[in-house]
Amino acid sequence: MNPAREAELTRRSYYTATVPALAPRSVLQGAETADVCVVGGGLAGLSAALELRARGFSVVVLEAMQIGWGASGRNGGQVIVGHANDAPYVDQLGLVEAKRAWDISVEGTDLLRARIAEYHIDCDYTPGWLYLAVNQRKARELQSGFEFNRDQFSYPHQTWISSKEIGNCIASPRFVAGYHDARSGHLHPLKYTRGIAAAAEKSGAKLFENSRVTEIVRGAKPIVRTAQGSVSCQFVLLAGNCYLGNLIPEIDRRIMPVGTYVVASNPLSPALADSLIKDRAAVCDSNFILDYFRPSADHRLIFGGRVSYSTMTPIDLDNSMRARMLKVFPQLGSDLKVDYSWGGFVDITMNRAPDFGRLAENIYYLQGFSGHGLALTGIAGKLAAEAIAGQAERFDIYARLKHLPFPGGKLLRTPALVLGMLWYQLRDLV
Ligand SMILES: Cc1cc2nc3c(=O)[nH]c(=O)nc-3n(C[C@H](O)[C@H](O)[C@H](O)COP(=O)(O)OP(=O)(O)OC[C@H]3O[C@@H](n4cnc5c(N)ncnc54)[C@H](O)[C@@H]3O)c2cc1C
Repeated sequence: MNPAREAELTRRSYYTATVPALAPRSVLQGAETADVCVVGGGLAGLSAALELRARGFSVVVLEAMQIGWGASGRNGGQVIVGHANDAPYVDQLGLVEAKRAWDISVEGTDLLRARIAEYHIDCDYTPGWLYLAVNQRKARELQSGFEFNRDQFSYPHQTWISSKEIGNCIASPRFVAGYHDARSGHLHPLKYTRGIAAAAEKSGAKLFENSRVTEIVRGAKPIVRTAQGSVSCQFVLLAGNCYLGNLIPEIDRRIMPVGTYVVASNPLSPALADSLIKDRAAVCDSNFILDYFRPSADHRLIFGGRVSYSTMTPIDLDNSMRARMLKVFPQLGSDLKVDYSWGGFVDITMNRAPDFGRLAENIYYLQGFSGHGLALTGIAGKLAAEAIAGQAERFDIYARLKHLPFPGGKLLRTPALVLGMLWYQLRDLV
């Protein structure tokens, strides 16, 4: 990724502004040995480190920047069951396996809450999530998804909200119907990521920062090299999101970095913040380029939306996001300000299903969360740890999914994607 672009995207993050500055962790220097070397200090890598330690493996985590610097510390904070796209599981693996994958994703949200409790992570977790439609056609699509989850996945935690009831759930003219999910919710992602890192470290994992992996020498005992050191290990787990770049070309071509943006408003009065969304749930609409928002613990509106397929930050981001917020909540009027705006890259796959697998018997990877990874990364790390410990059954449900490389290779994949996305945006408008 372009360092200047990343610096711009992290400059004004509400999350960074609301956590204490930490002393940097050590840089890897010299030769280390470990059973497992994890590449990437985001939630996928940290979760795997925690689970591997619980199974008795020695673990080194190498992070190119700082722990939580990537998507895990910058996201919209929405903890959501399911996957960015559940359809490929049904289409490719059949209903039984698709239900198992769905259940694993639900376990992911349970695992997240259990870890918050077990490690006393103060991260403002609030239960409840609304998935809403902006017109009747989309409401019908959403309802059939809701019925599918209820009837085929036997998932009982979602409640349909009709057009008559929607006004009781959200004080907005924008939505016509949708559903509430009680197992989903929202939190402060950087606080949560730091909490998981602290738990992993306490359990005995060694975490290094400013230690970018530059080479992986494959073999029975892989060697993972950085500028100043190396780790000799039995297993490697790659959890670098799209920031891994060219390190491993064969997995890089199956994901595409898409820029996505979030803003935090000025603090609202507690009463006004309470009046917007029932029980202060998180909200997501079902448009292709979606709006997703939630109140923060200090009564701001944390509002995500807009994407960039060119990896260029949209022009006039603050004003355009403010306009989107006002479209949802016009009552916020001229008092509404944007105090923070930031962004990051999501690693989307062609079919928007996550891409987990092996490059060799002892090299695993987790990628392609497609913007739906806050809870799923946690359980993905657990599945990778299970697989490394010899219980690969659950990991292999995911590993069996087929993923196509983006057409056009590195140079042309972006224009091809932009054309595809324009089609879906037009569909949203019609
Ligand atoms: C703006 C934004 C909003 C989002 N909103 C939501 C949301 O509301 N809900 C949701 O479920 N998901 C959301 N997501 C997606 C979610 O944040 C991600 O799916 C998840 O955090 C991915 O975690 P990860 O550990 O795979 O990657 P990351 O958190 O990106 O971590 C990867 C780490 O690997 C490091 N790394 C890369 N290459 C190397 C190397 N060579 N050597 C060493 N280290 C390396 C990077 O520096 C980085 O820190 C959002 C993402 C973004 C960007």
